Amino acid sequence: MKRNPFRLMAVLAAGALILSACGSDDGGDDDGGTTAEAGGGGDGLKIGIKFDQPGLGLKDGDNYVGMDVDVARAVAEKMGYSEDDIEFVESPSAQRETMLQAGQVDMIFATYSITDSRKESVQFAGPYFVAGQDLLVAQDSDIAGPDDLDGKILCSVTGSTSAENVKEEVPGVQLQEYGTYSECVEQLANGTIDAVTTDDVILAGFAAQDAFAGKLKVVGAPFSEELYGVGLNQEDDRCEEVNEALTALWEDGTMDQIIEDNVGAAGYTPNPETNPAEAGGHCA
Ligand code: GLU
Repeated sequence: MKRNPFRLMAVLAAGALILSACGSDDGGDDDGGTTAEAGGGGDGLKIGIKFDQPGLGLKDGDNYVGMDVDVARAVAEKMGYSEDDIEFVESPSAQRETMLQAGQVDMIFATYSITDSRKESVQFAGPYFVAGQDLLVAQDSDIAGPDDLDGKILCSVTGSTSAENVKEEVPGVQLQEYGTYSECVEQLANGTIDAVTTDDVILAGFAAQDAFAGKLKVVGAPFSEELYGVGLNQEDDRCEEVNEALTALWEDGTMDQIIEDNVGAAGYTPNPETNPAEAGGHCA
């Protein structure tokens, strides 16, 4: 299995996470087409992203910013699409498989872990990034890992691997599930829950927000490996093309730059093992 020697403790540098805030434009206005059919290019490309995850997928006014957004744009470009062809669509964790199956989006770049059970309903190109599940807690909390969660109130997102993993790992925890991580983080900041769990890179993005400075911290003891892939409809024949695009982005240095720009300050450095050419790809 792939290791992740680069998954440094995001907590150490969480406060310094740089949020990419430039070079973006809107993608939501040219609503020219109807639902894109799987496998058909059509005249546009609907890309599912998160809208509320700083550093990864964030809707900021009319702009879309973050690592997943940048990877999506770069892959689309390699595949011959222009910026104007792209429409970004919000894809909450629990709706990703359904949205792909229903053709509401062509591809999903949304901190989307490749898993065997998801592969039963969608296909994945990639991986292109590796994260690990962790905990976000109040600055003065003494929770240091999953073992300290018994009897505590924890928040995660419906349909995520984070919620699934923690149910197995800590059966005694009181898990509250919301639709998005930003809702969980709000609860934590209000003091109504004890911790939020999901991928460390997501938690670091929240911890770095001005609003939470000095209030929230990432524990820094990851307890899973999350390989981010690009989701596609199972019938879509562009999956290998996406893998080729990702490989080309590794080879021309674009991927390093995207990771560095968006999550570099959180302790993440590019991991060439997530080049699909190295990792063997995941199209099924
Ligand atoms: N990477 C995990 C997953 O795909 C957690 C993050 C998310 O929900 O997007 O479920």
